[in-house]
Amino acid sequence: MGKPTGFLEHVRELPRRRPVEERRHDYLEVYEEMPRDKLRTQASRCMDCGIPFCHQGCPLGNLIPDWNDLVYRDRWRDALERLHATNNFPEFTGRLCPAPCESACVLGINDTPVTIKQVEQSIIDHAWREGWILPEPAAEKTGKRVAIIGSGPAGLAAAQQLARVGHAVTVFERADRVGGLLRYGIPDFKLERSQLDRRLAQLEAEGVVFRTNAEIGRGIGVDVIRSQSDAVLLATGASRARDLEVPGRELRGVHLAMPYLEQQNRVLAGESIPEAQRLDARGKRVIILGGGDTGADCLGTALRQGAREVLQLELLDRPPEARGDADPWPQWPNLYRVSAAHEEGGERIYSVLTTHLSGENGSLARLHGAQVSWARDARGRMAPRPVPGTEFVEDCELLLLAMGFVGPEKSPLLAALGVELDLRGNVRGDERFATNVPGVFVAGDAKRGASLIVWAIAEGRAAAREIDLQLMGSTELPVV
Ligand SMILES: Cc1cc2nc3c(=O)[nH]c(=O)nc-3n(C[C@H](O)[C@H](O)[C@H](O)COP(=O)(O)OP(=O)(O)OC[C@H]3O[C@@H](n4cnc5c(N)ncnc54)[C@H](O)[C@@H]3O)c2cc1C
Ligand code: SF4
Repeated sequence: MGKPTGFLEHVRELPRRRPVEERRHDYLEVYEEMPRDKLRTQASRCMDCGIPFCHQGCPLGNLIPDWNDLVYRDRWRDALERLHATNNFPEFTGRLCPAPCESACVLGINDTPVTIKQVEQSIIDHAWREGWILPEPAAEKTGKRVAIIGSGPAGLAAAQQLARVGHAVTVFERADRVGGLLRYGIPDFKLERSQLDRRLAQLEAEGVVFRTNAEIGRGIGVDVIRSQSDAVLLATGASRARDLEVPGRELRGVHLAMPYLEQQNRVLAGESIPEAQRLDARGKRVIILGGGDTGADCLGTALRQGAREVLQLELLDRPPEARGDADPWPQWPNLYRVSAAHEEGGERIYSVLTTHLSGENGSLARLHGAQVSWARDARGRMAPRPVPGTEFVEDCELLLLAMGFVGPEKSPLLAALGVELDLRGNVRGDERFATNVPGVFVAGDAKRGASLIVWAIAEGRAAAREIDLQLMGSTELPVV
């Protein structure tokens, strides 16, 4: 504990967001860098608790008090070493993680928690700038070959761990570029792609081979992969989106969130999209269905594209602004949050459902909805009921469906491999990340259902350990 009185002397302070007017005109990251002296002050608020609940809050078990202390003492290189001990990609989590660690911070019981996520990001950004992050290729090769299917954070974390212990790792990705949702889902204003590219260069220098435009189960047969590798890891994500099943869904102008976000990512990567295929909000009145993170990403994107007006509609009730009895400390609370995108514009409306859509000449023109109240149904489950007399109509030229994901796609890959699914439709993996098919493992969203980057990295690391153990009979890779 660097400074025993830090938490008494200093208040929580976050980095500044760039002015809304400036950032609405670009896709650069929203947050400014936090000056190092301020950051050290924030790190000094850590109480180095006897039982650091933040460890449990973080799915990676990040050694948070250790690096807070080291940053306060200006020992950044040591802080980096502690950070990398549990997390392959702190530059992703430092920018994108919702920080369940901070919800579990002991200081948060009666004060504001330590800015853990910011300290994490600052350590890794500083380390990249200083040139401390170099490839760490294995000293010896094992002669074992591992095929990883899917190049999102789960596949990348597993690939790095396995390559570093000497296995020949090939990552197969059906898209034209590597990164999964880090590449084609998350907007650039949350994660500039240079962050991803320089980490991929490190993986390549460590011997990881990437094969893009390589869809396993369609372009490349499962038997080919299996015959060429000693173990297979499925890290294929959970990209089956929840759709809107109402009359009018077929109208032009109604789109799932992912193709919309992906197209903007591609435009920023320099691709030119034919005019007829452009999904552009410019000048339009846009409605986003879904009040979660994907909805917020659509909001930030639509505002940057120059939407005339944006509404975000959510079926659930507006969450409370402070913890309630339902989610006491140290649990992750369901709270009303104002993300950077919400600060930029748009309006959020809660407790509403869509009854139907109507249009003109085949194009969407209006969304018809009603307010709902939530009550238990005959089976005792909470269910929404339209409130009579609250029906409304909203003009709408572009409707984006961001209502969550229901599990892995029903692709030829899973059927050809013969892996079992669980009751939620995810690939069933046991506590050792093994599927029912010998030699085939699963990690990340494909196993958990749509989740978080921190969980994908944690599972990728843990699955790598199990694969190494199975291939070699023993392993030095960490549990997480
Ligand atoms: C719009 C959006 C925003 C998000 N924002 C955040 C955020 O801010 N913070 C956060 O923590 N989480 C966020 N998430 C969730 C997070 O991105 C995911 O939980 C995470 O990416 C899951 O990682 P993964 O490696 O399991 O799968 P993915 O990242 O989905 O990667 C799976 C990869 O497998 C490939 N693939 C699938 N099938 C095949 C096949 N047959 N052959 C070859 N390749 C295949 C896919 O093309 C894809 O590239 C967001 C999700 C979305 C959709
Ligand atoms: S990865 Fe997420 S939960 Fe873990 S320390 Fe970083 S911000 Fe906190």
